Amino acid sequence: MSHRLSKSRYTAGVQCHKLLWWKVHEPLAVELQPNKVLQDRFDQGAQVGALARDRFPGGVLIDLPHTAVDEQVRRTRQLIDDGAPAIFEASFLADSTFVAVDILRPDGKGFHLTEVKAANSQEEKHLPDVAVQLHVLKESGIPVAGADVMHLNRECHFPDLETLFQHADVTAAVEPLLNRVGWEIDAQLEMLAGPLPDVAIGLHCHEPYECPFMARCWPKDRDHIKSLSGVGPKKGCAFLLTGVHRIADLPAKQKLNVTQQRQIRAIRENRLIVEPGLKQALEAFRKRWRRFTAGLASSISKRSSVRSPCGRASDRGSRHQRSSAITSCRTTARMRTTSFWRRVRRTAGPRWCITCSRRRGAPTRSRHIPILSGPRFRHCRRQCPS
Ligand code: SF4
Repeated sequence: MSHRLSKSRYTAGVQCHKLLWWKVHEPLAVELQPNKVLQDRFDQGAQVGALARDRFPGGVLIDLPHTAVDEQVRRTRQLIDDGAPAIFEASFLADSTFVAVDILRPDGKGFHLTEVKAANSQEEKHLPDVAVQLHVLKESGIPVAGADVMHLNRECHFPDLETLFQHADVTAAVEPLLNRVGWEIDAQLEMLAGPLPDVAIGLHCHEPYECPFMARCWPKDRDHIKSLSGVGPKKGCAFLLTGVHRIADLPAKQKLNVTQQRQIRAIRENRLIVEPGLKQALEAFRKRWRRFTAGLASSISKRSSVRSPCGRASDRGSRHQRSSAITSCRTTARMRTTSFWRRVRRTAGPRWCITCSRRRGAPTRSRHIPILSGPRFRHCRRQCPS
């Protein structure tokens, strides 16, 4: 079966052939299903794309189903012949690769390609994306005079959106990559026709994008070098390159910090090590946590529609009065104790509000309201009679 590449497939293949193989052969893999964060990022990208298109009046969008490839290519040709001032999602198919150019507009004797990115700057990782588009356009007989990346301007502030975008010319930067694109496309297509390739793990698993298949490829052993405390992707992969795969493989003269030494000791002795100074070390965090909860209660009291858990903080009065009311509130005071939060963690499930975690001795006729958001802290009316 012959495969077809696209912009995203090509860039995935540039990162790792194994990643591309899985993307093509297992498109429904659970790792590839967008989670909420990724979906939000896609939506954001679509919004940025729409705003970018507004900057080119008279432009025509090729808005056809993504499966209607031939129709998209035909429509693009038609718009070029008609002399459209700009074509959005201009589609081309050549060398078994389909690309949809974000913005293509006539520029002197040729055309100018613009790639829109929902990023604050132009980055190195954007170049393969532009390179594959230039290659396909060249193969399709479209002369391209220049290319740029249109990205967000971090200096732009709402409501003045006139300067929302900036253009970074990448014509020269992408030039060295162009010679390799044809070769890379051939290599990717050949690889896709075969079985899952064997690719060693390395820094390419993290850069330019975090690979979604890390759990499949990276060992889960607790003594793998990536588990060493304070070792990030770069340092971990540097260890791998020197042949150090396990923590036990570390050379004796390797400089290690106190935490790493303790971790190695714990692995060697196969036990949990609690240093005598841990209590004092945690004390600082406890104070910060108390300050945080106090600040939280205070900020809640500043919102007129929200009361303290026992209802003592009034909607009325000055901000200072509301704040004092909640400060003197017994329930809130209990919130500031570590034991309270320990109990919340132990007892609060998805269906319980924090005030439902009360036990004998706690106020029973309190007004219970959700003072924290999130699934663990939902208000439970069944449990809270008020
Ligand atoms: S985890 Fe690394 S080796 Fe495995 S598919 Fe991803 S990039 Fe390739």
